[in-house]
Amino acid sequence: MRKNYIESHPIAFIMICLCLVLFPSIKDTFAMDKTSKTLLQHRVLKQEEVKKYSGHVVIDAGHGGYDGGSVYQGHKEKDITLAIALKLKTILEEEGVQVTLTRNSNHVSWSDDNVEDLSARSKIANDSQADAFISLHTNSYYDTNINGSEIWVNYNSDQNVSLAKHIQKGLQDIGYTYDRGLKDQATSPLQLLVENKIPSILLELGFITGNKDLQVLTSTKGQEQVAQGIKQGVLNYLKSLHNF
Ligand SMILES: [Zn+2]
Repeated sequence: MRKNYIESHPIAFIMICLCLVLFPSIKDTFAMDKTSKTLLQHRVLKQEEVKKYSGHVVIDAGHGGYDGGSVYQGHKEKDITLAIALKLKTILEEEGVQVTLTRNSNHVSWSDDNVEDLSARSKIANDSQADAFISLHTNSYYDTNINGSEIWVNYNSDQNVSLAKHIQKGLQDIGYTYDRGLKDQATSPLQLLVENKIPSILLELGFITGNKDLQVLTSTKGQEQVAQGIKQGVLNYLKSLHNF
């Protein structure tokens, strides 16, 4: 008697049935695997995008504690420098940069003596062996029409000048205030810039007495804007050092 295909090849028939049943789920498994791999790659890429910088920066909020710095219409220099330093720390860390603050509140960890105060800040800078030290201050003047930022530099090192130029450009690019340029600290020696052994600048953020600067320096939005400008300068400076 002539057998049909199923009767003559029962094992082959079972194998074909199994394949028909299993094929869609195997296909799905591979498809899922591909999707999760793409998602994983995407996640890794996103992490790399977020933290594409490295390096270490010391941010020095000028004055603090016993020393208010310049005061105008109830606004104190020490509060402005601290607010911008804290904002700068947050946004630099988001980029993967390590940040050390010389103070993170109104409290200062040194005695109320001006010389000791600056030496303590320099010690933090030199112990840190960071890539850069940025001291934040505000200027003051009797004429309220005077506005603008300026950067004090010790020209004894190319890195000091490079740091200053990058920060200057960062601030110019956000269109914040008048650029008063780089100033040679030799014309008016600044203890911090003499004692610091890592690339350092003293940034006068603007005039606390200036009719335009004051509004920016004392508003949250303005402080964020200034911090963004400094951040971009720091990132470009670190880029020039480490070739990211
Ligand atoms: Zn100051």
